[in-house]
Amino acid sequence: RFSTAAVAEEPISPPVQVNYTQLLIDGKFVDSASGKTFPTLDPRTGELIAHVAEGDAEDINRAVHAARKAFDEGPWPKMTAYERSRILLRFADLIEKHNDEIAALETWDNGKPYAQAANIEVPMVARLMRYYAGWADKIHGLVVPADGPHHVQVLHEPIGVAGQIIPWNFPLLMFAWKVGPALACGNTVVLKTAEQTPLSALFASKLLHEAGLPDGVVNVVSGFGPTAGAALASHMDVDKIAFTGSTDTGKVVLELAARSNLKSVTLELGGKSPFIIMDDADVDHAVELAHFALFFNQGQCCCAGSRTFVHERIYDEFVEKAKARALKRVVGDPFKNGVEQGPQIDDEQFNKILRYIKYGVDSGANLVTGGDRLGDKGYYIQPTIFSDVQDNMRIAQEEIFGPVQSILKFNDLNEVIKRANASQYGLAAGVFTNNLNTANTLTRALRVGTVWVNCFDVFDAAIPFGGYKQSGIGREKGIDSLKNYLQVKAVVTPIKNAAW
Ligand code: NAD
Repeated sequence: RFSTAAVAEEPISPPVQVNYTQLLIDGKFVDSASGKTFPTLDPRTGELIAHVAEGDAEDINRAVHAARKAFDEGPWPKMTAYERSRILLRFADLIEKHNDEIAALETWDNGKPYAQAANIEVPMVARLMRYYAGWADKIHGLVVPADGPHHVQVLHEPIGVAGQIIPWNFPLLMFAWKVGPALACGNTVVLKTAEQTPLSALFASKLLHEAGLPDGVVNVVSGFGPTAGAALASHMDVDKIAFTGSTDTGKVVLELAARSNLKSVTLELGGKSPFIIMDDADVDHAVELAHFALFFNQGQCCCAGSRTFVHERIYDEFVEKAKARALKRVVGDPFKNGVEQGPQIDDEQFNKILRYIKYGVDSGANLVTGGDRLGDKGYYIQPTIFSDVQDNMRIAQEEIFGPVQSILKFNDLNEVIKRANASQYGLAAGVFTNNLNTANTLTRALRVGTVWVNCFDVFDAAIPFGGYKQSGIGREKGIDSLKNYLQVKAVVTPIKNAAW
């Protein structure tokens, strides 16, 4: 039924070798203090790719110490902004030079289609670095008017040591979203990768040093959340923490930050994004876009369009066509040309998604297609669709983070606004209509950080991204991301003998 021949075949040999598996601290690759390692696995088979050094609190300490020294004693914040900018530009060039190698590493560790990594994600990293390289020498303060005879300057300074914790769904892109603005503003960094996907960030940080980054400015620690992640979030010498991942873990990070030294916190968390399709829409186009909005990256996107609201006048036609599209989805070895969907990241996510499919069936949603694993090896899941989904079902409320589309019916604009907003999340939304008034009404009414109108998942470097409500605090990318990494200092000087 599904276009899945590739799942049954022997996995294609990845066109890359794993060269970096240690922690990167103070410009050097080193073993963890404990000497421990953990396996990183190939999601296509569940088999070992490599053993990676496992950092914990002691390694975080060493990394923070290196970052502190690089910040307090220089040279990073004391270099000219132009010099910092040039290092980021050289890094972007090196990313481009090694595009295919990094993409292969990303696909191997994560399971995403190679074409997606090589043609979209790695090029976006180079683009984003150039964007922030451009900002480095354009960050400046203000001179503001005072009521008395005072000269008042407002300086924008780097915050200091930034702790950064990233997830596994876009490992290299998340590395770039975090490191780019932090470095442009003159901060130093300790970054903890997700335990499922440690490899691409180690490779990229090696390239950062090749580009001329001084030792200690970016330190990368592989390891687990409750050990390395928690140690970073609660470290007394870390000035700021930026986190991307689940809402539950985001709350833990916020609490650890508050209980330690009240470091500033930005969070990019989960979502349950509505994709609203009005009855004036071209149904074929809407089906394709809604399919992309949900199934892209194996459904492992925080902003996935995971509540597909379809107007009742086109509902039946939409469901039929969505089913036909899902059946055409090419699932298989992500290294194979033409494959649209690879395996899920690991057995935990795989089992969680199958559990949600069961909740859907048990709660009375109509299983239109899919509903099971694919093949008997690795973490492949059939593209799955439920129709007749009701708002109170778990599959309509909770993040599934997998290839499971839930289609809901509506008949009135005000009704769909209320239902779309009735979520603890507020990350993103899609709106599909040819009516300008409808589009304008929806874009203003939806309580979310991004609204894509007649498009979805458009992620330019300059477009801010982040959530309302429990989808997060703060914004990444664009100018807004710079604010996360800058302190504001007011300097007030009397003007003696002022004539006024
Ligand atoms: P998670 O939030 O637990 O992990 C994200 C990062 O946080 C990882 O680097 C992890 O090691 C770290 N972490 C975990 N516990 C920590 C702690 N106590 N202190 C500090 N850091 C900690 O996410 P997950 O377990 O990998 O996935 C669970 C769910 O999260 C998924 O099913 C999905 O719904 C959601 N998720 C969302 C995003 C997103 O981009 N918003 C990304 C990945 C996962």
